[in-house]
Amino acid sequence: MRWIGGRESSNIEDRRGMSGGGIAAGGGLLGLIVLVVSLLTGHDPGSLQPDGGSNPSGVPGARRSIDPAREEQEKKFVAVVLGYTEDVWEQLFRQQGKTYPKPTLTLFTDSSQSGCGFASAATGPFYCPNDRHVYIDLQFFDELQTRFHAAGDFAQAYVIAHEIGHHVQKVLGILDQVHAKERQVSKAEANHLSVRTELQADYLAGVWAHYAQQMKDILEPGDLEEALRAASAVGDDRLQQQGRGYVVPDSFTHGTSEQRARWFRLGYDTGDLSRMMELFNRSYDSL
Ligand SMILES: [Zn+2]
Repeated sequence: MRWIGGRESSNIEDRRGMSGGGIAAGGGLLGLIVLVVSLLTGHDPGSLQPDGGSNPSGVPGARRSIDPAREEQEKKFVAVVLGYTEDVWEQLFRQQGKTYPKPTLTLFTDSSQSGCGFASAATGPFYCPNDRHVYIDLQFFDELQTRFHAAGDFAQAYVIAHEIGHHVQKVLGILDQVHAKERQVSKAEANHLSVRTELQADYLAGVWAHYAQQMKDILEPGDLEEALRAASAVGDDRLQQQGRGYVVPDSFTHGTSEQRARWFRLGYDTGDLSRMMELFNRSYDSL
């Protein structure tokens, strides 16, 4: 991905090295029952044990040693990608006569307090609709390569763009509608709603890539494949197969590898925002 020299967003909150919280989150937040939308697991961080919960990498204490120069480079990269999401979504909102409210991206190490409760690195990257922050532990980029076998800078950009997709859903009122509905339906139906929501975030990530390419010419050979590989790597079927050796489709919350890659690709190919709800509302079997 061509990003060096790109505009770095100033909407980065750096809480690295402030394990366990960083800024005070204020009283009562832990008590809120909220749904957060993560790239991987759909965990509500508030439900995790304060000791950090389970580490899905299965390697306790496997945290990489901190290389300040490398982390600074990664932070720059994140800031540029965030800046590119701002540029694209500002333009797309403006075309519809709306204003895009920029989210904040919080970098943390190991664990952090969020507007949705306690977050640990094991949660994976996620978006909290309460405070409109995206939370990322930079170590996840290592995991993307080692655990998910999805290397490359555009795989990382896809992760950020997916979380920003959730922010777009929040701003457009979609997340609130989904969460209200999820409380009224069975667990299986709630999971289906979650899959729709996650696939739409993948679609929006693809739409972002479409316009980012058009506006900034960011893609290098192989970049698209990196994003598609990353989208596949975090499919429910693949993760369940790797984790427990079998898949339970009714428990899917994010969609299969095939679906995630296909929705990202469709967003990238068409750049067509007007289709996002039509796709979302399709029968479950045809998602
Ligand atoms: Zn997600």
